[in-house]
Amino acid sequence: METTNQVNNRGVCLWLTGLSGAGKTTISIPLVEKLREMGCKAQRLDGDVVREKLTPDLGFTKEDRDKNIERVTFVAELLVRHGVVTVCAFISPYRAVRQYVRKETGKFVEVFVKCPLEVCEDRDVKGMYAKARTGEIKNFTGISDPYEEPENAEIVVDTSKMTLEKEVDTIIDYLRENEYIF
Ligand code: ADP
Repeated sequence: METTNQVNNRGVCLWLTGLSGAGKTTISIPLVEKLREMGCKAQRLDGDVVREKLTPDLGFTKEDRDKNIERVTFVAELLVRHGVVTVCAFISPYRAVRQYVRKETGKFVEVFVKCPLEVCEDRDVKGMYAKARTGEIKNFTGISDPYEEPENAEIVVDTSKMTLEKEVDTIIDYLRENEYIF
């Protein structure tokens, strides 16, 4: 039987939220790679890329952050509707807007990419925490802007304690157990 066009997944919005430097992008890359190897349709939507390509007009006030996520939600919903595992990596610090994405996309799995602020700051992947501390960057999540931790995330991965491989496997296992992928 011809199986090359077989798709081994349903559409779902997999939403990675967490502080800058927590590991959202780092997890999303091998995750999508693995899903594709498994015969799933998968697509990444990453905060940094979206802000450069889709929402360059927006800043980091609460209003702009909400608008940023609302536009992403529009794209994510289309992908989900067309049967794609849509892996979204966004700080998305506000609980209410994450609730909005949940409602709009219908099939939504929240992944809390958990990591203590001190560890994220120590990693300082993009040198942004240092700038936030001096005030050069304003409205920086965790330093001068709030982060509202998820209260009922479907998945929590603590990147200060787990290996990247284990984090990816935890997410894949959840998707399999809940029949989003097969
Ligand atoms: P975010 O997308 O959340 O802003 P990044 O993925 O850009 O974060 O950065 C996370 C950093 O943490 C990377 O430099 C990555 O190598 C590092 N890191 C260390 N341990 C882990 C882990 N277990 N899981 C994910 N990232 C990790």
